[in-house]
Amino acid sequence: QATNDDPASWKAAVPGVKHVIAVASGKGGVGKSTVSANLAVALSKLGYRVGLLDLDIYGPSMALMFGTKERPGANDNDEFLPIEAHGIKLLSLGLMIEEDSPVAVRGPLATRYVQQFLRNVEWGGLDFLILDLPPGTGDIQLTIVQTVELAGAVIVTTPQEVALIDARKAIGLFKKVETPILGVVENMSYFLCPSDGKKYFIFGEGGGRKEADKLGVPLLGQIPLDVDTRTCGDEGHPVALEDPAANPVSAAFREVAEA
Ligand code: ADP
Repeated sequence: QATNDDPASWKAAVPGVKHVIAVASGKGGVGKSTVSANLAVALSKLGYRVGLLDLDIYGPSMALMFGTKERPGANDNDEFLPIEAHGIKLLSLGLMIEEDSPVAVRGPLATRYVQQFLRNVEWGGLDFLILDLPPGTGDIQLTIVQTVELAGAVIVTTPQEVALIDARKAIGLFKKVETPILGVVENMSYFLCPSDGKKYFIFGEGGGRKEADKLGVPLLGQIPLDVDTRTCGDEGHPVALEDPAANPVSAAFREVAEA
């Protein structure tokens, strides 16, 4: 009997989507969701049709970042219909699972939803689907890398050694399944002090660049620690919606999207 043990052959495309990009990090709180949201917005500003699938069950913040509480509907074929916010088609585990339900309940539900989100969504034709993965290398990440045909992965890290150590593990996961690493985004790279105009490297300097060089992948961008980036995120208006000519952080995300 013929068997096929090559994991690569199990991977399937997401219906209606040209390129699926996973955004991953080793640990939580490094700004992976912020980067996913702003990368999605920046790509859409470049004229692409973009969807964003928030699979981060531990910190499902995408609904907040896009300023919506709308629940996704379904079409006649029982496929999910993503909601639309700021020109992005959005589906979020956070919109399906109560935030305060315990992880023990959320876990199995999440795995079921992930399967459905990957196969059973009417995206309506997308150039890019951004997957905001949970941090680390758990079940959801494994399911994704083994079953989805990914164009590549973007790794988000801060310049801090503890973040880099965990980022390496995430990178290892993608390498194992031969998913290309598109590059590293270093977030919270420095704080640009408004009063003296100097850069302060709060989490250390150059960690993202060193890691990218070691891997032989591009450093896609260095995003400063910035109050507007946080407030825009909290207020449902990603900073990448701002005019890049007037907002340096929006410009930095635009560069990541162009890369
Ligand atoms: P993760 O998805 O890695 O857990 P988030 O994107 O949720 O991280 O970010 C964690 C917190 O840090 C959020 O409150 C977010 O607004 C904030 N944050 C992320 N990146 C920046 C930045 N460059 N400047 C300021 N605040 C940021």
